[in-house]
Amino acid sequence: MSERKSNKQRRAEIRDKRLKRAEAARRALAQPDPRWRDEAGPPPVVGGVATDRELLARYNNTYDLLPAFYFDRPFTCRDCGEAQVWTAKQQKWWYEEVRAPIDSEAVRCRRCRRARREGDPAGNALRERCRQLRALGARAPDAAARRAIDEALESKWWGVRVVALETLGLWADATSVERLKAMVSPAQAPPRGSWLFQARSAAAKALALKLPEAESDWALETGLSGHREGGHLLEALVNRPRAFWERALETEWRRADPERLIRLVWAVRWNAADEALYRSWRGKLRGHADRRVGLAVRYAWGEEI
Ligand SMILES: [Zn+2]
Repeated sequence: MSERKSNKQRRAEIRDKRLKRAEAARRALAQPDPRWRDEAGPPPVVGGVATDRELLARYNNTYDLLPAFYFDRPFTCRDCGEAQVWTAKQQKWWYEEVRAPIDSEAVRCRRCRRARREGDPAGNALRERCRQLRALGARAPDAAARRAIDEALESKWWGVRVVALETLGLWADATSVERLKAMVSPAQAPPRGSWLFQARSAAAKALALKLPEAESDWALETGLSGHREGGHLLEALVNRPRAFWERALETEWRRADPERLIRLVWAVRWNAADEALYRSWRGKLRGHADRRVGLAVRYAWGEEI
């Protein structure tokens, strides 16, 4: 078997693992655990909204897969590509008032839903623009393509700007990468709700699409430093060779900052397919003076706690 898998394979594996984990969480929440069934008690996770399972059971064929709580769910609008959250309250309305099937999910943002309903020409134009911008990402940039991206980054629709950032991430040439990096780590923290605030996250995700080998150390450092978008960058380090992780483990072990070590444990777990690497570090990490490091190792590899 080849040591290094293709990015595509690794990403597919990561996606499958996430889906499995989400499904496990969903099942756990659907268990008739007395703690969660106690109507006077708080939901197990902040932001959870209790479901009316009796009602849901009447409109769905299944009881055992029905959730005990709704949680805000992130999704990407199928039409405009904008990152959205389907809130717990909206889900309650959708499943319990509209009585939609429990496996139906939000796929479009409010604006795009309306545009579809009304055949809104502005909505269609927006979709067409996003389609064209995405198409630019498939080939190397020329002057005209770069101009189109510059214009898109001035669009009043943030969804268009996000698609433009994705295109920069797909090009992944030096200019585009520098631009995205500057957005991920702006000189000053952008105010909540501003474009630059949202751009930080969108740029990190765009960089993760095709992170160049030469940016590995920057991505690792940004991720380990606890940067709020660092998770995307750590996840982008799929397919880095064993030596890369070995070196990171050595460095962080010497630095002995438990927070950084914990982040690294998770990054190794996600990105290094190599179980031998884990076996060679397991004992050392689990014996760390800070108990949280050992716990992270156990959680990350799904061992008995
Ligand atoms: Zn949309």
